[in-house]
Amino acid sequence: MILPEPERGSVILIVDDSVASIEILSALLKDLGDIIVATNGADAVRLAEEHQPDLILLDQEMPGMDGYETCRALKANDETRHCAIIFVTAHTGQDMEVGAFAAGAVDFITKPFNAPVVIARVNTHLALKRKTDALQQLADRDGLTGVYNRRYLDSLLTTEIRRHHRQGQSLGFAMVDIDFFKAYNDGYGHLAGDDCLRNFAQCLTGMLRRPGELVARYGGEEFAIIVPNLDVDRAEGFSNWLCQGIRDLALPHAFSNIQNYLTASVGLAVGVPPQGMSVREVTLVADAALYQAKRNGRNTSVVSNFNL
Ligand SMILES: [Mg+2]
Repeated sequence: MILPEPERGSVILIVDDSVASIEILSALLKDLGDIIVATNGADAVRLAEEHQPDLILLDQEMPGMDGYETCRALKANDETRHCAIIFVTAHTGQDMEVGAFAAGAVDFITKPFNAPVVIARVNTHLALKRKTDALQQLADRDGLTGVYNRRYLDSLLTTEIRRHHRQGQSLGFAMVDIDFFKAYNDGYGHLAGDDCLRNFAQCLTGMLRRPGELVARYGGEEFAIIVPNLDVDRAEGFSNWLCQGIRDLALPHAFSNIQNYLTASVGLAVGVPPQGMSVREVTLVADAALYQAKRNGRNTSVVSNFNL
């Protein structure tokens, strides 16, 4: 099992309409992570989407969107629901506490700030968040190759289809299949086959260049790559480049019918997702392109634009 790569340092978002409070909290927490700040709920949601903070300190009382409303908005958003939220409040009592937890907060701290308590609580929740993230990462991975698994792929692809539709951006989804893998397994044995899959997965992962790109094991010797914001005129170059990357691995394959080294076929679906497009529909387009690449003799790629 390849363990997930180490995560970045913690990011803490401080949300408060009082600049004085922001200054105090920033000074207290500056050694615990990278600090970003917002002075209202709307900015908090926008910054949380952009920076994916591990922890959000959220002022309960703010003009406009208050803490409860901001908290509910963050928890209702796919891109920010995983952020741990600590309420910051000048009030204590059962109603406030129950209200904070009901809105989705994990804890609360009170004003005026008690420095050691603030640091201890933030530290505790950052540690918990790191453990939760580590467990989540393991649950999202394929046991053999360490790349993402099918379940995670489907959930991320759902999000990316919606996002690209909303923003009118072109999305790329590639299916990559090792040529003559059954012959490889039969010829070299299953342990060598496993090594081959690991090498192949690592090669694909090494070819990712932009944020948001992701490799997953789709099943057997078939892998999938999500390529956010892939322009249609860049699609053919990208899919050819994937085939070339596999050739450059130069893994011997004495049992291939076309070469004496390992090759792969690529089917790439690309385009601006129309309203309501499903994971299944995108996958079918990529799968059909992959099938065509196999029919064209393998060791090649086919691009299919789902807007045409
Ligand atoms: Mg306030």
